[in-house]
Amino acid sequence: MLSLSNVNQVQYLMILCFSFLIFVFNLTFHTGNHLTGLLGTLFFIPLYFCIASVTLLKTVNTEVVLILAEVSLLLFISFGLACRLNHKKVIILRLMAIIFPIGISMLLFSLEVEGYLLYSIGTPLGGALAFLNGILSFKRYKDRRLFRGFMILWMGFVFSLGREMQIFHILMLLFKLLAYLNFYMYFYRKAHQRWVVRVKKAEKDKAELEATVHGQVEKQLFMMQLSNEKLLNASKEDGLTKAYNKGAILEVLEHMIAKKQEPFTILMFDIDHFKKINDTYGHVTGDQCIKAVAQTAINHLRKVDYLGRYGGDEFIIILPGIPVEGAKVVAERLREQVSMACTPRITVSIGIAAYAKDGTTATELISKADQGLYRSKRRGRNAVSHGEI
Ligand code: GH3
Ligand code: MG
Repeated sequence: MLSLSNVNQVQYLMILCFSFLIFVFNLTFHTGNHLTGLLGTLFFIPLYFCIASVTLLKTVNTEVVLILAEVSLLLFISFGLACRLNHKKVIILRLMAIIFPIGISMLLFSLEVEGYLLYSIGTPLGGALAFLNGILSFKRYKDRRLFRGFMILWMGFVFSLGREMQIFHILMLLFKLLAYLNFYMYFYRKAHQRWVVRVKKAEKDKAELEATVHGQVEKQLFMMQLSNEKLLNASKEDGLTKAYNKGAILEVLEHMIAKKQEPFTILMFDIDHFKKINDTYGHVTGDQCIKAVAQTAINHLRKVDYLGRYGGDEFIIILPGIPVEGAKVVAERLREQVSMACTPRITVSIGIAAYAKDGTTATELISKADQGLYRSKRRGRNAVSHGEI
């Protein structure tokens, strides 16, 4: 190689470096395209000839070997472009691209021919065939860069045939440099495009995954909140009537007192002679009566009112924003409604207490309402009483 002229040394290094780069680049970054994959493999030809020229073909003129490499490359590129590539053809052409330069070098080595015969007949013929093939396959060059690279390389090859003239020598170097640069950029662009598509797809998949995970987490959280709420409600609920249980209704009462939500009143009512109902009709009917009374009260009350089962056949109603006069009206209506609520006919006795007039604590209010309730009982039941009446 050192015996070569400066221009040829540059040419040699350029072909060696670029063909190595493109060949390795193609092995490393798969573009997923038949033609690009094949073209990458074809750069094995100049790479192999460069290496063979300093090893196996020491006796053959390196310039001749380089021209052979170029013609072979041009021929293979034009073949690759001329036929409709499929997976099978790509494999065959790839294998040929590896076998062909090895075969030629073995032939040159074993026959110990100088290579000039091959050069003087083979190269012009090969070059012409490659040119014709390339031009005829012009329509298949979807990528202009590829066509440019092919044509520039071919021009470089033509200049190398007339390399005795200094100007052709320089032009040859320039054109080959341009061609190899062009091919390198072609591979770089193809690999880049492929990676951009892959990265975009990965980003899209990631976003979809995140959205799914986010959605699932949200759903789980919502379900947990729902079941927590249900559990909380269940812990506050009376099993038979679905009204608040004693603890919960007292909690509401304490809360309203703490907030001093004046005016508000409480009604305490108890089913009259309920023991008799149990004794006469049985506890199942008794239960149904308790349920019917609670349901009547719920239907009768506003959404802001609270109904709680204080125990047995005894209930408490909290009426926010309602003073004593209003509470008496509500209580009278409830008393009437309950008397029509179920069979056997049942009645209730009701006592009223108003915050803060009748008490400022839950105990005081309940005790005052209880007094009213017992007053109603004493008055013959099925009545409404406020402590002072
Ligand atoms: P009064 O008019 O004085 O209230 O007479 P009463 O018979 O209703 O007497 P009291 O309210 O003291 O008795 C309530 C009865 O309610 C006592 C109990 O057997 C019955 N009881 C308590 N809880 C339940 C229940 O969950 N289901 C049924 N069926 N009966 C109940
Ligand atoms: Mg009772």
